[in-house]
Amino acid sequence: MRYISTRGQAPALNFEDVLLAGLATDGGLYVPENLPRFTQEEIASWAGLPYHELAFRVMRPFVTGSIPDVDFKKILEETYGVFSHNAVAPLRQLNGNEWVLELFHGPTLAFKDFALQLLGRLLDYVLEKRGERVVIVGATSGDTGSAAIEGCKHCENVDIFILHPHNRVSEVQRRQMTTIFGENIHNIAIEGNFDDCQEMVKASFADQSFLKGTRLVAVNSINWARIMAQIVYYFHAALQLGGPARSVSFSVPTGNFGDIFAGYLARNMGLPINQLIVATNRNDILHRFMSGNQYVKETLHATLSPSMDIMVSSNFERLLFDLHGRNGAAIAGLMDTFKQGGGFSVEQERWTEARKLFDSLAVDDAQTCETIAEVYEQTGELLDPHTAIGVKAARECRRSLDIPMVILGTAHPVKFPDAVEKAGVGKALELPAHLSDLFERDERCTVLPNDLKAVQAFVSQHGNRGKPL
Ligand SMILES: *Cc1c(COP(=O)(O)O)cnc(C)c1O
Repeated sequence: MRYISTRGQAPALNFEDVLLAGLATDGGLYVPENLPRFTQEEIASWAGLPYHELAFRVMRPFVTGSIPDVDFKKILEETYGVFSHNAVAPLRQLNGNEWVLELFHGPTLAFKDFALQLLGRLLDYVLEKRGERVVIVGATSGDTGSAAIEGCKHCENVDIFILHPHNRVSEVQRRQMTTIFGENIHNIAIEGNFDDCQEMVKASFADQSFLKGTRLVAVNSINWARIMAQIVYYFHAALQLGGPARSVSFSVPTGNFGDIFAGYLARNMGLPINQLIVATNRNDILHRFMSGNQYVKETLHATLSPSMDIMVSSNFERLLFDLHGRNGAAIAGLMDTFKQGGGFSVEQERWTEARKLFDSLAVDDAQTCETIAEVYEQTGELLDPHTAIGVKAARECRRSLDIPMVILGTAHPVKFPDAVEKAGVGKALELPAHLSDLFERDERCTVLPNDLKAVQAFVSQHGNRGKPL
């Protein structure tokens, strides 16, 4: 399988190189040159497979030529073996023909484990084969950091540095990062905000000379392997609900458009999906596009669903690429306009094409709390605020009651106690067994000033399993 850039100017890469690549050299994102397509009979034959075996069948075409089948199978069995629920991604019914797909049974209790547990193992496998090491420098406002650290903690060939804003992440989220020890794991608390952390990561990618020749790898959702891993659970859910003979709809709590883009790909690979709902919080750039064909940056609002607090959705470029007939020059033009502060609309036919599949809703904090309370009253299920946004959007935007509606349950409510408390639900939140002593564990973290040079010096001092690069 070969991968091409959405801006048309970077060289095509194979899977191994795309795994290590991050952004393409032309500023674009990598996508498969040709998407695999499965027949209905083939998909139907996968009913009842354990999650890791389904994962093998869905993802195999993407890694062909880079990872032999036996090795890929073993990696997948290990990856999904660490999930605490035997079904890996169980469905829970909320209402008539309405289901939550629980994606929070991984080590850090959020759906990012599905991709990052795999990414860590894939990186280590490929690096071992090549006799190389890499450094990961990532910024987090919460979920991505812990999922990336958990995913990479056993990697022999990866050193990971995660920057978070000092005193500005929740205690659960901080402890999920700082209580994982390893000579290749480094938590850095920056005396600044999340944007400062992100700027330092960007600057480090732009000029990697401080790494003395070691390569930097991206673990944010621009990394193709993360999207790839997320395609699997759309197939998994549909197969449980009578697919592919029956079509299914999904409502997806969305920030960077990574998770929902995986659903779009599942459909293009042959899975009958009737409707994909983009569920955003008050940071609603995607809703403004889907409802009014306006893609315009606005100011950032802090919400009760912080993992979706974004101004710009990085993966949206991948959808735009398809909407424009895969014309890289057109995308480069649009992104240029956008960068200059313009914002843009797309031609009417292209927007209409997108609207055949996608609907959208923006849900504010008050509605999020109302939904948490309402669902708890009706069913006894406690939703996290991100999942609640998905439920609200599903109920407002649903096109057909006959088609099963699946809401992606992106996090466990225990990670977001503020929202649950504001919703007035009197249920005590309990950490799952494997995290029950989280508040007693020792923490390891280095506080650094908001200064790029200081951070880069720290990375180069510790980037070789705690020793200098
Ligand atoms: C990251 C995250 C999201 C948003 O996912 P995108 O791929 O950025 O759209 C939603 N919910 C939770 C809990 C998350 O951690």
